[in-house]
Amino acid sequence: MERIVYLDNAATTPVDAAVLDEMEPFFTERFANPMTYMHSSAGDVAHTAVEEARVRVASLIGSNPEQVVFTSGGTESDNWVLKGTVERTSRERLHKPGHLVTAEFEHHAILHSALALQRQGYEVTFVKVGRSGIVDPDDVRRAMRPTTVLVSIMHANNEIGTIQPIADIARVAHEHGALMHTDAVQTAAHIPLDVNTLEVDFLSLSGHKFNGPKGVGILFVRDHAALYPFIDGGGQEWGLRGSTHNVPGIVGLGKAAQLGKERLPGELERLTTLRNMLFDKLSARIDRIAANGDMKQRVPQNLNIRIEGIDNEPLLVAMNEAGIIAAGGSACNAEETVASHVLTSIGCDLKEAKSSIRLSLGYVTTAKDVDYAADVIPGLVKFLRSMA
Ligand code: PLP
Repeated sequence: MERIVYLDNAATTPVDAAVLDEMEPFFTERFANPMTYMHSSAGDVAHTAVEEARVRVASLIGSNPEQVVFTSGGTESDNWVLKGTVERTSRERLHKPGHLVTAEFEHHAILHSALALQRQGYEVTFVKVGRSGIVDPDDVRRAMRPTTVLVSIMHANNEIGTIQPIADIARVAHEHGALMHTDAVQTAAHIPLDVNTLEVDFLSLSGHKFNGPKGVGILFVRDHAALYPFIDGGGQEWGLRGSTHNVPGIVGLGKAAQLGKERLPGELERLTTLRNMLFDKLSARIDRIAANGDMKQRVPQNLNIRIEGIDNEPLLVAMNEAGIIAAGGSACNAEETVASHVLTSIGCDLKEAKSSIRLSLGYVTTAKDVDYAADVIPGLVKFLRSMA
């Protein structure tokens, strides 16, 4: 069989076999609606499974189970916390549109939600991020206003993997009477995560980034009264999020959280070693190569490099042909290739942004995979440079 080296785990990960095993019965024989548990023993089975999953996720993030609210994933959690909190706090505390602080390099789930709020008359400050890819808490402090109701800064960036000083930023938010949210989609089950150590009021995570299923995530909500429901409906999730529970997905998320927590110390060390090995080998074999963002304060699974003299699109296509799946720092639209907003926000020029690739490792990545990538990529770069 053709060799596939999957180095795009920051985009998504395969569902773990043990996760799939736990999910499967909930599609067929254990299919009842968990909200029927009061009068139905079948409903009680589903309800118990949902509550067990809630305990497992809570244990991963150090929260109480009732602070874990299931959603359809990171995008929904991010949309909900921004829109639900800013609207509620503005109306009830300020009696006028409030102010949100976030950062230029956030995921589009945050950026586009912030822009939607702006269109409705709320004020938003997008804090700048320097070459390190790390937000300076003093920049957040300078952005604060008496009307600031929420600060939302991601725990680790999805393109460059840099880890943010969330507890320090949360302290700034709280000193100014604002609430604090972090998007932990790229850190959950990858580095230790504790909502109390981070001092956050809200945290988003998503199952498919740590070998759970797609379409399921959570929003950690410290105090249910802090935000309006995003999906009004049948009163599920304490009336915070209507819609019949995605029971197989929630069960899968719970199992992935349990496995992620168990594996975390070993994986943190193993992936850090593999990632550093990959960077060292590529740096030794390719000249004019550099990492984007701080290499130390970074999640173990992420390597984002710029390679002078190449364009990332043909490189990624050539890598794909050689069986190596990775990502560019750029998103494509139909007409043109757009440079990554993350890389330009940290000060890369257009050329640098378009010569960058992200290699992201995961539970499925082996030392052989890393060796293969380190052996193949230099030849492809050499070829593309010779064509330029
Ligand atoms: N936030 C970050 C940092 C992400 O990396 C992603 C996924 O790419 C999301 C949010 C969106 O999560 P989901 O795919 O579960 O909607």
